[in-house]
Formats: sequence, C-alpha cells, structure tokens
Amino acid sequence: MSNSSHRIPIKLEDVELILGKELFNTHFSTLVDNVYCQTCHPPGTNAIHIRQIWLDQQGNISIDGRCEKCRSKLRQVIETHNDPDSYGQAMVIWEIREDLLRFD
Ligand SMILES: [Zn+2]
Repeated sequence: MSNSSHRIPIKLEDVELILGKELFNTHFSTLVDNVYCQTCHPPGTNAIHIRQIWLDQQGNISIDGRCEKCRSKLRQVIETHNDPDSYGQAMVIWEIREDLLRFD
C-alpha cells in the first residue's frame, strides 16, 4: 500500500519549516546529536554527520548520514503525523517539490 521508496530530498531549512523554529532548535538538534550507533566500540549514542535528508509521503523525515565517531552509516527518522502543524507543512512541501521533480 505505502510506497516507502517514494521520497524527495529536502534541505535543513525545509526541516526547520516543517518542525517550526522551536522544535527545530530543540527536538531536531537533540535527535541529530544522539543517534544510537551499534557499530561503535562500545555501542552508544553519537552525533550524526548529515549527508542527505528525505521526506516521504507519510510525512516522515529521514536523515541519512554517518556516525561522527566511527563513520558507519546511520539513519534517524522523525515522524510528523502526530503533530498537525508539522504534518500539514510537510505535506505542503511534499506537494510543491513533487510537482517540480516530475518535470526534471
Ligand atoms: Zn559509530
């Protein structure tokens, strides 16, 4: 039913738009600085070095990057569907970008 591979690349400023300035500065920063890495010795939470951010049609923001410590690949996902404001903004960005990408 859901097509999870259907996603669009977004930028940090889009994430800020979706979450709002306050959540972006608190929640998002905390998430990015505390990703659990099981490849590290010992495994633990580290900052993620962001390579690409994605938005999917369900309003999930996926952050792809690498562990700051051991450089292995990490992913952090932020779901927005529980927050009507964030989800609404995510869908606005989704619709605008998807329209643009269709003509690439
Ligand atoms: Zn690591």
